[in-house]
Formats: sequence, structure tokens, C-alpha cells
Amino acid sequence: MERVVTKMRTFAMTGGATGIGAELKEQLLAAGDRVISVDIKEGDIIADLSTDDGRALAVRGVRELAPEGLDGFIPCAGLPPVATPFSLIARVNYFAVIETVEGLRDLLERKQGSVVFVSSNSAPMVPTDDSFVQKCLSGDEAAACKEIDDRDGHSAYAGSKRAVTLWMRRHVVEYAGKGVRLNAVAPGITMTPLTDRVFEDEELGAAMKAFGDSVPVGRTAQPADIANVMRYMLSDEAAYLCGSVIFVDGGSDAMLRSDDF
Ligand code: NAD
Repeated sequence: MERVVTKMRTFAMTGGATGIGAELKEQLLAAGDRVISVDIKEGDIIADLSTDDGRALAVRGVRELAPEGLDGFIPCAGLPPVATPFSLIARVNYFAVIETVEGLRDLLERKQGSVVFVSSNSAPMVPTDDSFVQKCLSGDEAAACKEIDDRDGHSAYAGSKRAVTLWMRRHVVEYAGKGVRLNAVAPGITMTPLTDRVFEDEELGAAMKAFGDSVPVGRTAQPADIANVMRYMLSDEAAYLCGSVIFVDGGSDAMLRSDDF
């Protein structure tokens, strides 16, 4: 019988310690892939992505472990809207994402890899012309952080996800020209430690639980619901998927914005 030999792929990711990232890591490892995980808690590289030093450590660490290149990168680390100061959300959910993607770009080009950004179905709730979103996109971390510290967690969270998604869309042509596909997954409420923190919050908890109860398919997501789709987005079967934002949210975005796409 002919043996089918599949090549082992190498992925790097942030936020692989818990939740969606941990589930994706397990699925990729189970498929025989290699996964380099960067996280503040546990992983191959321990780094605090809210800081310049942590981001540099993360990029340097991945480069040392995968000099041959990457088949994919998943900047999954993120903080919930209840994390304070709110600038921490901007730093981890937006600026660290962009800096690590840019820092690993040549490794992705080397193996014609792809990036799956982690957006959110809350991203469309903040407009593109929001001043915090614009400050993120201009790359001015100090100004974005200064502004968002005086605003609210929802604007910080949804705004940073909006900015990540717009950055992805704006860079699709440039990256695709070098053989690298950029896409984003936009999860709805998923049962992870991040969501536990939001549900426990005095201000946001009740509203988030009510939103969870309104999901059209009748339940909130498990990490595997999201990771299954991300794994496909990273696969060769998705070779023509480029610049897409895939909502994996049980129908919530369609319910809220039926006429808008
Ligand atoms: P999670 O809290 O289980 O995972 C987040 C991971 O990021 C953890 O492993 C954590 O240690 C890591 N992390 C946090 N701060 C860090 C830092 N400063 N440096 C390095 N690592 C850090 O949460 P999750 O729900 O699995 O979230 C994964 C991604 O999915 C996040 O980007 C989140 O915004 C996004 N998301 C989650 C939901 C949801 O409902 N859970 C919905 C939409 C999008």
C-alpha cells in the first residue's frame, strides 16, 4: 500500500495557554504540526506582549525556533473589555498583534504562510472613524493609550478589534504580493477564561449574559467551535481565502446587522 507522507507544518501563535488559542494549539499538534507558543503564562516563549521588551522577546524567540520559516501565525493573545487600565487592552489586542505580525513577516514569506487574526463580532460596533481606532491605525501607541484610558472597556475592546480587522484588510494586497494570505476570524461569545471574567463583572456581566442568551443558534460557543474554523483557514484547502473576515458567532452578527455586509 502506498504511504502518504504529509509534511509537518510549523505554526507560531500567541495566547496558546488557555481558551481558543489552547484549543487550536491542541488541534494542530494532533494533526502532526509543530506549534511554537508565546504567552505570558506558559509556552515555548514566555513574554508579556503589552511591553516593547516582551514583543521583541516574542519575535526573537520565534525567529530562533523557526529560522526556516512559518506556515502560519496566529496572534491570538487578548484581554477582555474588563481589563484595566484600558490602555492594556489597546497594547495587547492591537499594538502587540501588529508588531508581531510585522516582525515575523519574512518568515511567513519564506514558506508562503498565512495569518489568522482574531477579531470579534463586537468589532463592527465601533465605527471606522472612531478617534481611538484611527490612533491605533496611525501606529501612535502613546496617543491611542492616552485616549482610551479615559474612555470605557467596550470602546477599548471592540475598537482594538475593529482596528486589527481594518489593518488586516489594508495590508492584504501587500502581503498577498509576497505569497502570504491574511484573514480574520470574528468569534462571538466563547466560553473561555476571558468570558468568565466578563460574566463576573458587575457592570458588563448581565449585559453579556443577555447577549449570550440571544445567540440565534441557541448557545454560546465552545473554544472548538472557533478553533475548527481557524484550523481550516490555515490549511491548504483555504488557499484562495484571502482578506476575509469570517464571523463564527452562531448568527449574532447576521441578527444585528442583517442588511450590512
Ligand atoms: P483566554 O483568556 O482564554 O486566552 C487569552 C490568552 O492570551 C491567554 O493564554 C493569556 O495568558 C494570553 N495573554 C493575555 N495577556 C497577555 C500578554 N500581555 N502577553 C502574552 N499573552 C497574554 O481568552 P480567549 O477567549 O481564548 O481569547 C483568545 C482571543 O479570542 C482573544 O484575542 C480574544 O479577544 C478573542 N475573542 C474571544 C471571544 C470570547 O468570547 N472568548 C470572543 C471574540 C474574540
